[in-house]
Amino acid sequence: MSVVSITGLHKSFGDNHVLRGIDLEVAQGDVVCLIGPSGSGKSTLLRCVNLLEQPSAGTIRLLGAEVTDPDVDIDRVRTHVGMVFQQFNLFSHRNVLDNCTMAQRSVLRRSRKDAEATAMEMLERVGLAHRAQARPHELSGGQQQRVAIARALSMNPALMLFDEPTSALDPELVGDVLAVMRDLAEGGMTMIVVTHEMTFAREVGDHVVFMDGGVIVEQGDPHQVITNPAEERTQSFLSRVL
Ligand code: ADP
Ligand code: MG
Repeated sequence: MSVVSITGLHKSFGDNHVLRGIDLEVAQGDVVCLIGPSGSGKSTLLRCVNLLEQPSAGTIRLLGAEVTDPDVDIDRVRTHVGMVFQQFNLFSHRNVLDNCTMAQRSVLRRSRKDAEATAMEMLERVGLAHRAQARPHELSGGQQQRVAIARALSMNPALMLFDEPTSALDPELVGDVLAVMRDLAEGGMTMIVVTHEMTFAREVGDHVVFMDGGVIVEQGDPHQVITNPAEERTQSFLSRVL
C-alpha cells in the first residue's frame, strides 16, 4: 500500500497557479527527495500533504484515507504525519523534554510517564538525551533541529516530511542533522525530504523528484535524475547547485 498517493493536485493562491497537476506515489519505507529551484512549489506540495494548505483540485490519500474528502478528520490525519521545518519552531520557554511531550499529551492523550519515556527514547535516537532539561536557546541550531526531529518522532508518525531542514544551519552543523535523517531512513521510515543537499539525495534517496514551475519535470532513482538527468531543465538546475 502507498503511504502517500497524490493525483492531479493543483494549488492556486489567488491568480498564482502554484501546483499544476502533481501525481506522486510514496511507498512504505521510501525516501523521496524533492529538489528544484526556489518558488517551484516544493513547500506548497509538502504543506498540502498534511493539509496545512487546502488543495484547489486533485486528491491526496494518506495511508489509504482520502484526506481531501471534506468529511475527513484533519487533526486525526495530521497525527500520523511528522513535519520538520527549516526554522525549528521549538517552544523557547519550555525545555527539550517538554517540547517532546506536549503534543503527545494533548493530542494523543498519553500519560506524562508514557510521553516522557517515548520522548527520551527519541532524544536518545538523535543523540540528545543528555540535554533533556536544556532550554532551546542553550543548544546549537543543529541540536535544536535534532530536538525538532525527536519531537516529531515522539508522535510515532507513519510519514515524516522535511522542508529544507538544514538550510538555516551553519555549515558545520549540517552533517549531524543529515546523519540523524540517514539513520531514520535506514530504519525504514517513510520520508519526503525537500533538500538542496545533493549528496544526501543521491546517497539516501530511493526516489528523486525534480520540480519546476509547479510540475514534476523528471523523477526516478537518484542515479537517473541526479547523475544522468534526461531533461534540459533538470540539467540546468543541477549545474547551478552541484
Ligand atoms: P518552494 O518551496 O519550491 O521555494 P513555495 O511552495 O514556497 O516554493 O512557493 C511557490 C509559490 O507559491 C511562490 O510563488 C510563493 O510566493 C507562493 N506561495 C506559497 N505559499 C503562499 C501563501 N501562503 N500565500 C500566497 N502565495 C504563496
Ligand atoms: Mg520551500
